[in-house]
Amino acid sequence: AATSATGDDMLRRRQFHFAQVQEIYYQQPPQIERGWQHHLIDIRGRSYLDMMNNVTILGHGHPEIAAAAADQWQLLNTNSRFHYEVLGELCSQLSDLAPAGLDEVLLVNSGTEAVDLALRMAGAATGRSAVVTVKEAYHGWSMGSDAVSTSLADNPSALETRPEWVHLAAAPNTYRGIYRGPDSGPRYVADIARQLSELDSRGIAVAAFISESFYGNAGGVPLPREYLAGVYELIRARGGVCIADEVQVGFGRLGEYFWGFEEQRVVPDIITVAKSMGNGHPLGAVITTREIADAFRGEGSFFSSAGGSGLSCRIGLTVLQVLERENLQRNATEVGAHLKAELLHLMETHHIIGAVHGMGLYLGVELVRDRDTLEAAREETFAICERLRERGVIVQPTADRQNVLKIKPPLCLSMSSATFFVQQLDEVLTRGW
Ligand code: PMP
Repeated sequence: AATSATGDDMLRRRQFHFAQVQEIYYQQPPQIERGWQHHLIDIRGRSYLDMMNNVTILGHGHPEIAAAAADQWQLLNTNSRFHYEVLGELCSQLSDLAPAGLDEVLLVNSGTEAVDLALRMAGAATGRSAVVTVKEAYHGWSMGSDAVSTSLADNPSALETRPEWVHLAAAPNTYRGIYRGPDSGPRYVADIARQLSELDSRGIAVAAFISESFYGNAGGVPLPREYLAGVYELIRARGGVCIADEVQVGFGRLGEYFWGFEEQRVVPDIITVAKSMGNGHPLGAVITTREIADAFRGEGSFFSSAGGSGLSCRIGLTVLQVLERENLQRNATEVGAHLKAELLHLMETHHIIGAVHGMGLYLGVELVRDRDTLEAAREETFAICERLRERGVIVQPTADRQNVLKIKPPLCLSMSSATFFVQQLDEVLTRGW
C-alpha cells in the first residue's frame, strides 16, 4: 500500500519495486515534481534547465495540451474501430506533412511499435525478411525493433547477438567511423553495395534498410552527404523498401528541416514517428505508401486498442497546432544556431571538446581525451553531467561510448537559457569535474 514518502525514502522504494533493468539518470537524482517549458522543478522547489528532453517538444506542462486532453477525456475516448473526427483529421495532417505519395498512416503508441510495424510492413511488401541496419543505432525494445538495434550503450553484446535476418552495415559516423568527414558518403555506400552483392550471391534478397535520417544515437551526427541517396538506390534496385526512423529527429527538431530525410534529399518508403508527436503522451505513427499499406492489408488486419484513440489523436493534433503557432521549428533554427556557435567557441579553450555535432536543437558535444586519437572521455562525460546537475542543468551522456553530451531540449528553449547552459558548461570545464 502507498504511504506518503519523499526524497531518499522514495528513491529506495523505486529501487526496490521498479525492476532494475533500466538505468536511472544520476547517482543522486533530484525528485522531480513538475515541469514548465524547458524547466523541471524538484520537490524542494529547485529549478533545473532541461537540455535533453527530446520527447516534450513543446515544453513541459503546456496548458493547451492539458486542456485538450481534459476536454477530450470528457467528450470521448475510444478505440480506432469507431468513426470519430480527430482520427481522420490527424491522419490527413500527417500525410500532408509527409512527402507526396506517403498517404497512409497507421497509429500506434510508441516509437518501438512504429518501428516494429514498419518492419512487418516491409516484410509484407517484399515477401522477404532480411533487413540491413547500421551499427550504433537504437530503434526500440520489442523483438523486431530490438533486433535492428545495434547500440552498444544499450546492449554491449548487440553486434554478436542479432538474429540471422539482420545484416549490419558500418556506422556512418562522419566523426569517428571507418570513413570520416561529410564527403565520406560514397565510400560507405560502396561498402554496402559490396555487402548486398554478397547477399545476392547467397540468394538473400533484402526486405528493407532502416536507419535514422540524422544519426541520433551516435550523438546527433549528420549522415555523410549522398549517403541515404546511395543506399536507398541500392536497396530499391533489389526491390527492398527504405525505412526512415524519424522518432527523434522528425517534427522540426533540426530547425531547418521538418523531417531528417530532407537534409539527405531523399524520400523514404516508410517513415516512423513517435516521441515529439505526442509531446510525452504515448503516440506514434507509421506513414507509408498505398502500395505498401495494401500489401500489409493483404496479410490480415492490424489493430491497437489505444493507438489512434480519440485522446491520442486530439493530443497529436494539438501538438501540431502549437508547434506551428508558436513557431517552434523557427525557434529551433535560431536558438540552435546561437547555441551551436557558442559551443563551438568553447572548443577553442577546452580541448576535451572534440566536436559539436548536429543542427537546430539536436546537438551533441563529443568529449575526447585526445583530438587525434579520439579516445572517448566517458568517465569525464558522466562526471561533467553530475557537476552540471549540481548547477541546475539536466543533460546526459549518449552514443556507444557514452561520451557525447546529448543536447535535445524542448523546442521552446530560450536564447538566455541556451547561454546559461554554455556558461555552466564553460565553468565546469574550467574548474574541473
Ligand atoms: N527509434 C529511435 C530513433 C529512438 O530514439 C527511440 C527511443 N529512444 C525509439 C525508436 C523507440 O521509441 P519508444 O521509446 O517510444 O518506444
